[in-house]
Amino acid sequence: MADYFAMDSRQCAQELDSLRKIYEEYAAKGLKLDMSRGKPAPDQLDLSMDLLTITDYKGETGIDSRNYGNLEGMPEARRFFADILGAQPDEVIVGGNSSLNMMYYLIDLGWRLGFADSPAAWNACGRPKFLCPAPGYDRHFRVTEYFGFELIAVPMLPTGPDMDCVEALVKDEAVKGIWCVPLYSNPDGYSYSDETVRRLAAMKTAAPDFKIMWDNAYCVHHLTDTHDVILNMLEECRKAGHEDRALMFCSLSKVTFPGAGVAAMAASRRNIDYILKNMFPMIISFDKLNQVRHIRFLKDMDGLAAHMEKHRALLEPKFRAVLAILDEGLSGCGSIARWTKPNGGYFLSLYTLGGCAKRTVQLCREAGVVLTDAGAAYPYGVDPQDSNIRIAPTFPPLDELETASRLLCVCVRIATLEKLLQRQ
Ligand code: PMP
Repeated sequence: MADYFAMDSRQCAQELDSLRKIYEEYAAKGLKLDMSRGKPAPDQLDLSMDLLTITDYKGETGIDSRNYGNLEGMPEARRFFADILGAQPDEVIVGGNSSLNMMYYLIDLGWRLGFADSPAAWNACGRPKFLCPAPGYDRHFRVTEYFGFELIAVPMLPTGPDMDCVEALVKDEAVKGIWCVPLYSNPDGYSYSDETVRRLAAMKTAAPDFKIMWDNAYCVHHLTDTHDVILNMLEECRKAGHEDRALMFCSLSKVTFPGAGVAAMAASRRNIDYILKNMFPMIISFDKLNQVRHIRFLKDMDGLAAHMEKHRALLEPKFRAVLAILDEGLSGCGSIARWTKPNGGYFLSLYTLGGCAKRTVQLCREAGVVLTDAGAAYPYGVDPQDSNIRIAPTFPPLDELETASRLLCVCVRIATLEKLLQRQ
């Protein structure tokens, strides 16, 4: 391998030729591999099968979890999630299986009615706007797009969203909130620095009811011994005199079962009271049986950490394999690509030369490897640089992941050479 930027057009064409031969060999294998969605693999789901043998339904205070009632969640579940989220139990609502569902509900609430600290419903201000650190989680962006917010991309840095940019944008009263995945962000795997958290909590916003959608989806999903640690957003907001600003979320989707876990949120008491009052017409109670079952199964923070170590044992080799193959397949070609090396979470980001991501994904797909669509991690699905590719190493078995990653390297190199030849 040689530095592609040091090659003349004849050398580029020669290299392209030999890579196309390798590519054709992959294409002839009839591969059907998928590195597109961040799902746990079946062996991870098997870790939680004992959950289904738990038939205990009485709560610790005698609540019969089979019945209606306790919209706020079982007391032991509120305590468990309070520990995870860093809040008090009475600042927590334990919901159904999906935190995204809770986030959607709150965006809906803000849109239709506003919050306890809102002068008016968000949709009363013409076209409200929402900040989207990008690349970010496509489904966050989709929720706010669906309601009709204008999505404003904010560059994502290794320390979190570009705070100079955020602080300038929130001077606009139409900007109502920001999406955040603060620990092991989707897709870069970055964790917010203390300075970023403090600036988000303290910044002056023109909208008095500005909300931080603090989606701590990967809060216990470590992949190494050196866990990233972030500040507690609710606490920082409180210190800054903005305690109603933070809405924090997490779920057990990637702890037990994505389709049948338990989700929770935490916020100020004022927000929790307001949200429960507004949830009241929607539902009588969430699935408390599943809440009890999960607490019996995971027990406490030590039990949770021990369970997550089992996930780590299955996931770490997959991340390690992808990173080693990217290094082996791309590092020798000069700076044609860079990639993130997360300490946790479900994803990593590969950044190609500008204008090469879509072509890379297309080449992979045509040879039988499905990646997330290029641009998917940006508002409206458009990456202005056409550079980011989200890699989800968790679901495929290790051997398939290795094949897919090797093909990916070939495709990045082909796309880069095509681009360089166009430029020459
Ligand atoms: N937030 C983030 C950042 C995610 O990556 C995901 C799942 N991919 C979710 C939320 C969805 O969580 P839940 O299953 O609790 O709805």
